[in-house]
Amino acid sequence: MPDLPPPNVLEHIVDVHCHPTDAPSISLESMARLHITICAMSTMESDQQRVRDLALAHPTKVVPCFGYHPWFTYQISIHPHSSKDDHYRRLFLQAASPSSDHVAILEKLLPSLPEPTPLADILSDLRRNLEAFPEAMLGEVGLDRVFRVPFDYYAGPRQLTPFVVPLDHQLAILEAQLDLAAELGRNVSFHSVKSQLATVDLLARMQTKHRERWSHINIDLHSCGMSPQTWRDIEKRHPNVYLSLSTVINSRSPNHRALIAACSPDRLLVESDYNNVDRCAEQTWDMIKTVADVRGWPLETEWIDGLEEKDWGTVRRLEKNWHAFKAGNMSTSSTSRRSREK
Ligand SMILES: [Zn+2]
Repeated sequence: MPDLPPPNVLEHIVDVHCHPTDAPSISLESMARLHITICAMSTMESDQQRVRDLALAHPTKVVPCFGYHPWFTYQISIHPHSSKDDHYRRLFLQAASPSSDHVAILEKLLPSLPEPTPLADILSDLRRNLEAFPEAMLGEVGLDRVFRVPFDYYAGPRQLTPFVVPLDHQLAILEAQLDLAAELGRNVSFHSVKSQLATVDLLARMQTKHRERWSHINIDLHSCGMSPQTWRDIEKRHPNVYLSLSTVINSRSPNHRALIAACSPDRLLVESDYNNVDRCAEQTWDMIKTVADVRGWPLETEWIDGLEEKDWGTVRRLEKNWHAFKAGNMSTSSTSRRSREK
């Protein structure tokens, strides 16, 4: 049995990033046993509906997140193309003279690739989902320079092709989704892997492009793997950017403890990044314990009302961060809120 705190502590915990709909099914018993709130990500065309259904069935426990993950953006077309093969050749054989190896591998891969979906269709579906759920966030979206397209995503062990999704293609799809988030005033769960510079550039560009609207939404850099220095720079320039950490991804490197120490205490969030809803609470709790350890904050094992802020434990601090994140509009409201509290 995991060493979880009692339900009256758990109900103050938010797992800001997980993938429960990746599991083959989610039982009603699992959802009944769930005492925390989860932010359920979608990633590709087929799981938008699954996240929708989960949120409709469990509106008090699930914050639905709709969006297209960088790993699956090769299935989206941003230019008019004459055929499916034409789309994938253009994407994967960008070099003027691609190697004969690559051409052969693509020919082998082509029959299993889906007909690409035009970006306009993706965006109208996304808009419909976000508008249907006023609490919904955009996610999971982002940039990834490590991912290679597998022959079969669902096969295990997964065999990889040499093909990556070109960064300009990822960026075009990401920016279109972020434009929508700014327009609709929605927070974002952001994946950034080996893309520090591109992410820093993008955040600056979005700030200039959307101004007020951008400052009214919050961005969570999920399972953030950035260096503490890069994070500090981002934090200073962008009052609307948070970071969240997961044991499953971040504990592979000691960097996450340095990040927790470097991060402003009011920009930290926690997540599981798990696809098994039965384990979201224990995984999130595990990261809460790490945060408590690094920051030297107490850890709640029971819920006590009416504590002064100086006596707050880790769960209460992270809960306050979640509420600030959720409310958006960090740049204006939280400053006035903070001065009022003093
Ligand atoms: Zn994820």
